[in-house]
Amino acid sequence: MKIGVSACLLGVECNWSAGHNRYPFVSEDLAKYVEYVPLCPEAPVLGVPRETIRLVKEEGRIKVKGHKSERDYTQPLTQISQEYLKRLKEEGVCGFILKAKSPTCGMERVKVYNPQGMPERESEAGIFAKMLRQAMPHLPIEEDGRLYDAWIKENFIMQIFAYESWRLFSLSSPKMGDLVHFYTRYKFLLQAKDERLYREMGRVVANSDQKPLGEILLQFGELFLQAIAKKNKISTTYNVLEHCAGFLKNHLTPTQKEELRSAMQEFREGIVPLVLPVRLLRLYAKQYGIGYLQDQIFFEPYPRDFALRSDLKAYK
Ligand code: SF4
Repeated sequence: MKIGVSACLLGVECNWSAGHNRYPFVSEDLAKYVEYVPLCPEAPVLGVPRETIRLVKEEGRIKVKGHKSERDYTQPLTQISQEYLKRLKEEGVCGFILKAKSPTCGMERVKVYNPQGMPERESEAGIFAKMLRQAMPHLPIEEDGRLYDAWIKENFIMQIFAYESWRLFSLSSPKMGDLVHFYTRYKFLLQAKDERLYREMGRVVANSDQKPLGEILLQFGELFLQAIAKKNKISTTYNVLEHCAGFLKNHLTPTQKEELRSAMQEFREGIVPLVLPVRLLRLYAKQYGIGYLQDQIFFEPYPRDFALRSDLKAYK
């Protein structure tokens, strides 16, 4: 899986002072599972080292200008960003990790100044980040600072793996039966993300109007990418656990039922992390041969070494 990244986060010495902003989660942990497409829009335009730049609101437009020289870099940064966007699409990236607060790469809340150099009340995205969002609206995008939050990190990692899964599926010339199988395996994950979108996808897959497959795939893909961009909630995740438990109710012993019930309840109350009820459900699904449950992506949406569901703060 390919992921775009602000190059300085990988340790490339391309920032304004010829230093880097290496972020170990990106350069080490996630690097084991992805192939990076590192990009730095500023280095080829302004060189390394370079003067610092900032966003300036002038005549109602946001420009990127040199801090000291006041030179306007908007046009060359726009041009290189367009070239990078073309490359990202060609490479088939499944996400992008941006460097926070940068007037080029910052995903949000980048300071904007007036022409006299005073900060405006509004903030913006960096010039490249804004173009990236517009060009690839469903692409999973996060920035380094936000990924310290366990909830944001779990959702982002889940989203990039689901995005990649859809990308590969849609490139595989799928038939209607393949789509039904894809949807079936994702059912509980989608239900935990967004019940309304999950049901809408069910209607699309049922295809009662006998629409052509191409149209169905487009509609389904749009809804799927919207759903996986939603953040998990304890309440909807608990509903899914209940649903899963329903498949086991005629198999479990009273002790197993009690064990599962209390693990689910304690997850709902924020006492234990999601990994505990999920482990029990997987174990029982395997023990009693409930294939439908065993196949659900919900139980392992990304490699388990990430251990993100062991963190109490990953769900709220
Ligand atoms: S934040 Fe973006 S533009 Fe700035 S050094 Fe990092 S990759 Fe380059």
